[in-house]
Parts: sequence; C-alpha cells; structure tokens
Amino acid sequence: MTFCLLGLGANQGDRVGNLMAALDALRQEKRICVERVSSCWETAPVGGPPGQANYFNAAATIRTELSASELIATLLAIEKTLGRVRTECWGPRPIDLDLLLYGDAIIDTPGLKVPHPRLHERHFVLGPAAEIAADWLHPLRRQTIGQLLAALPDSTSSAAIMRVLTSPADMQAEVLKLRRAGQRVGLVPTMGALHAGHLSLVEMAHRHSDVVIATIFVNPTQFGPREDYSRYPRTLDQDLSALSAADCNLVLVPTADDIYPPGFSTYVQPPAVAEPLEGLCRPGHFRGVATVVLKLFHLVPVDVACFGLKDFQQQLVIRRMVQDLGLPIEIIPCPIIREPDGLAMSSRNRYLSSAERQQALSISRALNMSHEMVMAGERDAAVIAGKMRDTMTSAGIERIDYVALADPETLADVAILRGPAVALIAAYVGSTRLIDNRFLNSDSGP
Ligand code: AMP
Repeated sequence: MTFCLLGLGANQGDRVGNLMAALDALRQEKRICVERVSSCWETAPVGGPPGQANYFNAAATIRTELSASELIATLLAIEKTLGRVRTECWGPRPIDLDLLLYGDAIIDTPGLKVPHPRLHERHFVLGPAAEIAADWLHPLRRQTIGQLLAALPDSTSSAAIMRVLTSPADMQAEVLKLRRAGQRVGLVPTMGALHAGHLSLVEMAHRHSDVVIATIFVNPTQFGPREDYSRYPRTLDQDLSALSAADCNLVLVPTADDIYPPGFSTYVQPPAVAEPLEGLCRPGHFRGVATVVLKLFHLVPVDVACFGLKDFQQQLVIRRMVQDLGLPIEIIPCPIIREPDGLAMSSRNRYLSSAERQQALSISRALNMSHEMVMAGERDAAVIAGKMRDTMTSAGIERIDYVALADPETLADVAILRGPAVALIAAYVGSTRLIDNRFLNSDSGP
C-alpha cells in the first residue's frame, strides 16, 4: 500500500463537476482508496494562451496497491474518459490529474517524475494539498507541504479567488474557524440557476459580513410530486463564475445524500404563516423549505443570512422559524430585483417562450396597478384584486393560483386597507408557475 498525493485541475466545461467526476472515477478503481479530498480552489490560469477561464484545483490523498506507472496510466485513462485531449501545453482542459507524491519515492524517468517537478512552487497545488496533507514530506526538498506553502512569496494571501466545498462537514469546520478568528460570516442559500436577483443577495451579504458563503442545492423536499424538481435548471459552472464575479468567498454544493442521508425522517413543522397562499397551493412546500434551511443553518452556522422578498412568504416563514426556535442568526430580507421591463427575476423565467414572456409582464403590471389604485385612494381589497385579475386574464393568463392583499407580517387577508399591506400573485404562464409581490402603503396617497 502506498499513500499518494494527487492534484486535480479543470478550466473547461463543468469545471467542479469534472473534478467530482474524476474523483468518482478514482473511487470506482478497485485498487485505489480515496482518503481525503480538499476543497476546490478557483485560481487564475498560470501560463497558456490569453483569455482562458479560471481553473478549479483540488488535491486528494489516496492509498493504492498500484505501482507508480500503473497509477499514472489509470490517471491518464480517467482524463481521456472525461474528454481530455492532450494538445498544446498549458492549454485549457476539462480535467488534469497529476501524481504529486507517490509515498516517499523519487522517480525520474521519461514520462514519470515524482515528486511532481513543480509541486513545491505552485500555490494552486500546495494550497489545496495543505488542507489535507500539510504534514506530508516532500522527499526531495525535505520540507512538509505546509512548510513549502508557507515559504511561497505570497503565502499569507490566499491564492484562491473563491473556494467550492462539497462536504457540509468541511464547510461547518471552515465557518467555525472563521468565526473563532473574529470574522462575521454571511450566507446566501440558493437553488442555483443564478441571476442578478441572487447576486444582489451576495452583495447585501457583503454589506453585513466579512466572508460570504453561497449554497447551491436544489432541495427535493420542497417540490411537490407533479412539480419541476427533475427539470429545474442546473447550471453549476455558470453559477460559480457568477458567484466569483460577485466576490463570493465560499460555495457549498452538497449532494442530496449529504443533506438527506439514508433514513432521514426528521422534518420541521413550519409556522402558521406558512399555511395560506403558497401553503394551500403547494402542500408540503414550506415543510421542505423550513427543514432544509434549518439544516443549512446548522451545517453553515453563520451570523447572518439573506433571503429575497421575491419569495415573500418564504422569508416570513424563515424569520418566524428563527424567532420561534431562538436560532442565533440574523435574517436580512432583500429587495426584489426585476428585469428592465418589470418582470421579477426568477430561475424559472428561462422556461418562458417569448409570447409567454410578454404575458408574464402582466403580473408586475397588475402589482403596479394595485399600488396606483391605493395611491389614488382605493381601499377596498376586493376591488383592487378584481382589477389585478382582469389585467392578467386580458393578457392571456388563464390559471391564477391567487391574487391576495394581505397583512405583511401575518399574511391574514385584508378586506379594507388601513396601513401597510402586501399584494401577492401566483399564476401559471403556460406551464410555468410564477410568483411576485409588492408592498402597498395605504397611509400614503389621498
Ligand atoms: P432560489 O434559488 O429561487 O431558491 O432563490 C434563492 C434566494 O434568492 C431566495 O432568498 C430568493 O428569494 C432570492 N431571489 C430569487 N429571485 C429574486 C429576485 N428577483 N430578487 C431578489 N431576490 C431573489
């Protein structure tokens, strides 16, 4: 049995997905046992043609019965399976697997050099490697991985632009370490397919914390059996680029098994504010939301978390749960981000055809009209809701789940507007269900 250190890199295609696929392929090998895996470090490309995408780099420790040359052959075969074509040196690549250390062996033959000749000088290799093998010895340099990293010229500043973790336990350790060091940590939970609405939450989290963490997890338990869980858009690589551009520091991308291990059977009974509106139309939805959010708050024990007002009832449910259960976390509601023409941004907007996209505009138009009616002095909720429905039906929307004027704290129906209220809509445009809302203030106006 030989203990080995491997380096993994990708800057083409679904970069983190490719790293995970390579690790899965290693785990399939009978004579290889993958022991520890680092987080994925986003790093700027070193050398090579200009305009290349950033890399994601990771390190893994393995135990193997294979000889060094057999192991190299296995790594090359995995690279090939994952679409690597070795052309130009330093060119973009969907996957790169390097043998960094093979026990304490020193091998220098054509095609096989161990330790990897540039291991000691590369931040993007030593950084991830030091997470999992800081005390491993470089047999030529007679220094540990941790010492080699510390000796690099810019060793104090992290070379990672952003780091992606797939292990919730590693993320939990990371957050606790940050908080012990006095850092304030903020969280933006998402289901991916990110747009400017999500990124505004990242920006808001930055205003309230030193380190921002996003999670990307399409939560199966909040989808009903006839809803769009399996076709929900999954765009991990673009999401990671967008998060990086928004200066997100850490991303957790757990698997469904990480969140719901076999035998999982504990659920949160959501608060009463979950019952009307979405609660009636999507039975079980908020049970799934509350459960996953509570679990995320434990796995990623941050100081603050940002939620969009786009999902108005959701942020009420979360705020109430936090209050009821005494969770030590501050919830920050964030304004709705809209397209220039008024459509509230949503991951589901990408399902819309261009004709449906036009129909969908009637939702924000109806909400704006409710505001104008209030400003003009109308106080009868039924009259306002009636006009809102008309606006949508005359645009061709046939299936309206609800048009409601409600108390913005309890979501109780409001008959006559006196003070703050919220107008909420859920409707199908074609087969796509959209939700939107707008604050109404009947204290203003005539
Ligand atoms: P989702 O990925 O749909 O679960 O949304 C993740 C978070 O982003 C939730 O807190 C949403 O309320 C928020 N969000 C989604 N769309 C928007 C938007 N258009 N403006 C502001 N926040 C949003």
